[in-house]
Amino acid sequence: MEIDLGAMVHNLNYFKSRLKPATRIMAMVKAFAYGSGSREVANLLQYHKIDYLGVAYADEGVELRKNNIHLPIMVMNPSAEAFENIVNYSLEPEIYSFSLLNQFIHFLDGKACRVHIKFDTGMHRLGFNETDLPVLISTLQQNSNLQVASIFSHLAGADEAQHDSYSKQQAAIFLTLANQVSDALGYKPLYHLLNSPGILRLPHYQFDMVRLGIGLYGIDPTAEGNSYLKPVATLKTVVSQVHELKEGDTVGYG
Ligand SMILES: *Cc1c(COP(=O)(O)O)cnc(C)c1O
Repeated sequence: MEIDLGAMVHNLNYFKSRLKPATRIMAMVKAFAYGSGSREVANLLQYHKIDYLGVAYADEGVELRKNNIHLPIMVMNPSAEAFENIVNYSLEPEIYSFSLLNQFIHFLDGKACRVHIKFDTGMHRLGFNETDLPVLISTLQQNSNLQVASIFSHLAGADEAQHDSYSKQQAAIFLTLANQVSDALGYKPLYHLLNSPGILRLPHYQFDMVRLGIGLYGIDPTAEGNSYLKPVATLKTVVSQVHELKEGDTVGYG
C-alpha cells in the first residue's frame, strides 16, 4: 500500500478552501488514520498547523504523544481504565454520558482537565440529550476543574440530500443545547457538528470547528462524485503469471 502525503495536503487545502478562514479543523486520525498510518499522518497535519486531532481510543493518543505530536487530541471512546493515560498524556476525553462524567470527576479529584461534551441530536448513538441538560449543567458548574473545550454533535445523514431536513433539525437542536451549556458556564466552548460530507454539503453549519475524516484521505463521501479530491492510499500488487485456459478446464484445488 502506497500512501501519498502530497495528495493528503492537496485534500486538506481543498477542504480549507470550502471553509471560512476562521473555522478550525479537527482531523480524525482514528483507526490508524483510516489505515494510512497515524504517526506519519499526524506529523504531516501538525506541520500544516491543523487545530485538533481526533482518535477513537486513548491508546492511539498515547502513541501520538510518544511520537512528538503536541496538538490537542480528543479521545472519542474514553474508558475508566484509560483515565490515567488521558491525564498523563494531556489527552482530552469526549464525555457523552453521566456514568462517564461522574467516573471522570471522581478520578480527577479536583485536578483540571479539558473535556468535550457530546450531544445526541438524532444519531442516537452516543451523547447527552435535552432531558439531561439540567443535571449536566449543574454538574459542570459544580466541577469547574472540568474545562469544556468544545461542545459537539454528529449528523446522521450529512451525505444525502434526502436527509437535509433531518440535518437541519439536528443543527437547530444542537445550537439550542450548546448555547444553554455555554450560558450556564459563562464562557463559550468551540462548537462543532460537521464531518466530511457535512463540510461539502452543509457548510452553513460549520460553527467554530469541523471534524474532517474520510475526505482527507481522498474519498468523496457524497453522491456527487466530484473529482477534486486525490486518493491517498493505493493498493498495488504484482501479477505472477497469466494462463490461457480452455472452456471446461479447472483451476486450483478440487
Ligand atoms: C469518524 C468521525 C468523524 C469524521 O467523519 P468522516 O465522515 O470520516 O469525515 C466525525 N465525527 C465523529 C464523531 C467521528 O467518529
